[in-house]
Amino acid sequence: MRPVNMAEEERSRKELTLESLVEGKKMEAYVEHRTREMHACAICGGIGYKKRPMKCVGTRWFCMDCVRQLKELMDGLDKWGAEVKLENEMSRKMDEGLGL
Ligand SMILES: [Zn+2]
Repeated sequence: MRPVNMAEEERSRKELTLESLVEGKKMEAYVEHRTREMHACAICGGIGYKKRPMKCVGTRWFCMDCVRQLKELMDGLDKWGAEVKLENEMSRKMDEGLGL
């Protein structure tokens, strides 16, 4: 084998390495791009996809299931608030009764 061939071989090997590096970078960028498109729910950690729509609130994403549960929570918020108020009132009365 003549030296010139060796040099050529060396170069094509470098090109191959470079090519695979570029491919790797492309893949990385693609994965990153895909990851950016996907959002994890801030509550359950589930990944959103077509059948699981996600809503962005501020900088966080929430899936449909969690938002639905949140809505139920919100619907019961008045009742919950009233319960908390009643509990506070009761413990205040008890404290008063105990002379605290
Ligand atoms: Zn969720």
